[in-house]
Amino acid sequence: MRYCRFRFENEVLYGKVEDRGGEPWIVDLAHAPEEDLEFRVRHPKAVPTILDFEPIALSSAELLAPVTPSKIICVGRNYRDHAKELGNEVPAEPLLFFKPPSSLLGHKGTVVMPPQSERVDFEGELALVIGKRATKLASDADWKSYIRGYTIANDVTARDLQKKDGQWTRAKGFDTFCPVGPVVSDEVDSERGLTVETRQNGELKQQGSTLDFIFSIPELLSYITAAITLEPGDLLLTGTPAGVGPVKAGDKVEVSIAGLGVLSNTFAAAR
Ligand code: MG
Repeated sequence: MRYCRFRFENEVLYGKVEDRGGEPWIVDLAHAPEEDLEFRVRHPKAVPTILDFEPIALSSAELLAPVTPSKIICVGRNYRDHAKELGNEVPAEPLLFFKPPSSLLGHKGTVVMPPQSERVDFEGELALVIGKRATKLASDADWKSYIRGYTIANDVTARDLQKKDGQWTRAKGFDTFCPVGPVVSDEVDSERGLTVETRQNGELKQQGSTLDFIFSIPELLSYITAAITLEPGDLLLTGTPAGVGPVKAGDKVEVSIAGLGVLSNTFAAAR
């Protein structure tokens, strides 16, 4: 199933997404996931009764980030060619960092380029959404049963601050630096290889297959959960292929993965 999170009249709702005539549509309301506590407080039932809801094209809906994670864990340098392009060694173990949930942004949202940075980069990535609590997963665990679905993310990075600060918290964590969406889907198969493509103003900048990961998804899950319990709704960004580059105000960056759609965001200078 594919689902999205969207604003409808004055409500935030979840919608079931299906193709109609080759285009994705929100065909019905969907269950809110258990971790969206704000939703559960407003709506005692997981699917509220909205009497006047009619199907709408996904492209005309006001989409929000389809996740409300307790944490966003990211993997750095998980493609050899990207590690090399920034002059880094291929890591012997996964390199992990966090982005805060306050950095989340939806499809078509505007990424605000902060005045503290003179170089903001895009990083197109496949992201996983955790479906059930995962602690100390063995490397041969049934890892797929812990994954609710897949989505697309842009790990926006203030490259100059990443170098200057040493710690990556600020460089990776500005408000709006984690666009995610447009949908969460369990209809794609990461093991068969998903191609991540990033376009900047229509020009192809990144193209990488998840088959080229240095660390596979089960290896990442085992490594992460040996240290950190993952909760339902948590988001895991799996790293970016080669071709990252700086944006300027007014740029449109689109990250696409077949089956998951296109995550499109524009960049603007802070006012
Ligand atoms: Mg990244």
